[in-house]
Amino acid sequence: SREWHLVARPHGWPKAEDFALREAAVAAPAEGRILVRNKYFSVDPYMRGRMNDVKSYTPPFKLDHPMDGGAVGEVIASNAEGFAVGDHVLHGLGWREIASLPAKHAVKVDPDVAPLSAYLGVLGMPGLTAYAGLFEVASFKEGDAVFVSGAAGAVGSQVGQMAKLKGASRVIGSAGSDEKVKLLVEEYGFDAAFNYKNGPVRDQLKAAAPDGIDVYFDNVGGEHLEAAISSLNVHGRATICGMIAQYNATEPTPGPNNMAMIIGKRLRLQGVLVSDHSDLQPQFVQEVAGWLASGELKFQETEVEGIENGYDAFVGLLRGENTGKMIVSLV
Ligand code: NDP
Repeated sequence: SREWHLVARPHGWPKAEDFALREAAVAAPAEGRILVRNKYFSVDPYMRGRMNDVKSYTPPFKLDHPMDGGAVGEVIASNAEGFAVGDHVLHGLGWREIASLPAKHAVKVDPDVAPLSAYLGVLGMPGLTAYAGLFEVASFKEGDAVFVSGAAGAVGSQVGQMAKLKGASRVIGSAGSDEKVKLLVEEYGFDAAFNYKNGPVRDQLKAAAPDGIDVYFDNVGGEHLEAAISSLNVHGRATICGMIAQYNATEPTPGPNNMAMIIGKRLRLQGVLVSDHSDLQPQFVQEVAGWLASGELKFQETEVEGIENGYDAFVGLLRGENTGKMIVSLV
């Protein structure tokens, strides 16, 4: 079975030489374990942080060890009660063709309820991040005007649509290409959207939200956060979810110089960690599955085929080559 190893810690943007696709032996599963043939694995922005040797909320990847992350696959051998060959499972050993793991670390998923890859996106971790970050952390309420950055990505595309479904007065998104902007307005029902590469975020946001915003869902940081603080109304709230504009930076990036506005406007900026919100999982799945079935909530995936293209998929994600969830398929 082939698996991706991190072989050097990237400085700035990751390079192909920092990664290696290597062969690994696969043994029959010991007591309590299963073997899974991965069909899809996830590449996510947080993995960039795990390539650095710094303490964070997730431990760094070890050099010359397989990387890990979300994956869905089919059980091909089982030595664990309750798991049979042919079952489909979600688990944490991505970036490889065959995963060997304790069955208690796997969750069964039903390919008839949703396509398997959806458990890595709209019905998985990014979807729950959107749901918890908007409804719990930002205390979204009907009538709020919402701005979300990274709006055509896995998390952002769901934030905007969920806000609309729950009665937002106006939803504004930003993304990095004109095609993505078109998708947001024409397919996902955003009221306005702009390409942050076409001009200052502050000006484009002011034009898109002349009456200001009540909630900002930050996936990007930097210039976006500064612009959002300026557009937030009194008693606005911001969920600080990610700062992808900084993940590959080697120099300090432009950031908010208007933090004092937080005082006068009594803003609430709050971080979200999806792992704190597993209590919302059942409610999230029930509500989102309903919206998917009725067609009210849309999602897109960008699929890169073949384990050998895992590195390209990851760097493509950081460059914005994905629309919606970036997935590596092994089928
Ligand atoms: P996405 O699907 O949104 O993919 C990343 C996107 O980031 C790219 O498609 C690209 O789109 C955009 N991007 C890249 N560089 C920049 C830049 N310099 N400025 C603005 N946008 C940029 O990823 P996810 O939906 O999985 O994650 C979105 C954010 O949420 C990330 O910051 C991630 O770290 C965070 N996150 C946080 C979690 C938590 O628990 N706190 C959980 C999950 C995700 P474009 O073409 O628009 O530039």
